[in-house]
Amino acid sequence: MNRITHWIGGEPWTGEAERHGDVYDPATGQVTGHVDFATAAEVDAAVAVASAAWDSWRSAPLSRRSRVLFDFRTALVRRREEIAATITAEHGKVLSDADGEIARGLEVVEFACGIPALLKGGFSESVSTQIDVTSIRQPVGVCAMITPFNFPAMVPLWFAPIAIACGNAVVLKPSEKDPSASLLLAECWAEAGLPPGVFNVIHGDAIAVNELLTHPGVRAVSFVGSTPVARHVYETGTRSGKRVQALGGAKNHMVVTPDADLDAAADAAVSAGFGSAGERCMAVSVVVAVDPIGDDLVARITERMAQLRTGDGRRGCDMGPLVTAAHRDRVASYIDVGVRAGAKLVVDGRGIDADGSGDGFWLGPTLFDNVPRESPVYTDEIFGPVLSVVRAPSFDAALDLVNANPYGNGTALFTTDGALARRFQSEVEVGMVGINVPIPVPVAAYSFGGWKSSLFGDTHAYGPEGLHFFTRSKVVTSKWPRAAAPSARPDLDFPGNR
Ligand code: NAD
Repeated sequence: MNRITHWIGGEPWTGEAERHGDVYDPATGQVTGHVDFATAAEVDAAVAVASAAWDSWRSAPLSRRSRVLFDFRTALVRRREEIAATITAEHGKVLSDADGEIARGLEVVEFACGIPALLKGGFSESVSTQIDVTSIRQPVGVCAMITPFNFPAMVPLWFAPIAIACGNAVVLKPSEKDPSASLLLAECWAEAGLPPGVFNVIHGDAIAVNELLTHPGVRAVSFVGSTPVARHVYETGTRSGKRVQALGGAKNHMVVTPDADLDAAADAAVSAGFGSAGERCMAVSVVVAVDPIGDDLVARITERMAQLRTGDGRRGCDMGPLVTAAHRDRVASYIDVGVRAGAKLVVDGRGIDADGSGDGFWLGPTLFDNVPRESPVYTDEIFGPVLSVVRAPSFDAALDLVNANPYGNGTALFTTDGALARRFQSEVEVGMVGINVPIPVPVAAYSFGGWKSSLFGDTHAYGPEGLHFFTRSKVVTSKWPRAAAPSARPDLDFPGNR
């Protein structure tokens, strides 16, 4: 059985773990590995190693940091297929999707390669007589990253490259459901010449997370996961004096107006609803059809769903299994809930004939129409291949519906009316907005994050906000008089400009 263990100080941990978790291949239903679960003492050891490594990495020249980032990129590109295969084997998503998440992670690495330009400070000459001001941004220290199962490579890559480029050390706690990709990232950092201890991986569950959240050696916490845990992480981490960015769950609405290109909208709803089996925080889970196009749109979506092939992600299928049997059962339970609430079950994904082992965690694409707004199918984040259609009598009603939702991660509008699109992007209370783009994940030069219950804290991930999160600002006011001025008498005046 494959043992998956921590990575501390540039090498695999050699200790004996007290607790373990099972890791599955979701397409076969078989246990393929055991992952070590860290105790508080093991987390403490990793933080101590990271702290010691930070002491010298914080002053590594920017040119050296940039070279390590370039070499890390080279290592990632070289091992891309291997990493994608590992993700598919533990998460279940199809290979092309696993490769896609590495591609998005690489964009952040490429952004971080420019660290010498990104960390330029400010300077003002002669703000007062013989006085100059310099502003610089310095690293924060040991940064903890706690990441979800659904993007085992991309989400760590949202944070670690920027944190490291800024001169910090990292302790990553990846999801215990698909932990192996994080170790391949660790190997890539080692190949790139990152000093041992600057990037560490600790596996485990809430015990490891809670230790990181309260550990005095951890200065900043980046979290991505479900909303209840994000709230807990934000509250516990900030109470312990840390800066925290905690990205939570989502319920993303895609609004389609009557003038829209309905074929393009149906294509988008199917790819954004069922890609990665709906296990994406930016997945579309609700399509809001503005009257009178509902029936037509549902027919076009149904037609496209019939062409999807569900099965083992290594066999060229469109959609893979769900991550665990428990998650599959939870998602499938919403199908009964929806039927009981009076929603129309248009396509039922239960009992699908998947192209894969009979023991895989399968659930086929499922479509509900006319979903009641008080049903949990509409109110809960389902995080699976269950797409809901709701009808709205007008564009205004559709916009109100999106804004009334407690989540605010992503949303999309499909329309050919520019004025309507402009109003939507201005008035919608969501952090990431797509206009005729169903999954508006910002490119690496911008920052990623939602509003309301989709993000706790005030800093989004990567891009300029990532740089801000992983650095502290310092302003130096200096005076270098040409000749020492004779001091006539002590001066207790308020410092002013002369
Ligand atoms: P999760 O909240 O169950 O787990 C996330 C991380 O927190 C994991 O590392 C896990 O070990 C840890 N954890 C779980 N329970 C904990 C607890 N009680 N105390 C402390 N730590 C705990 O999330 P998941 O199921 O792995 O991922 C899916 C969720 O992540 C969905 O809600 C999805 O929307 C969200 N997500 C959000 C974004 C975003 O950018 N907003 C991106 C990806 C995923």
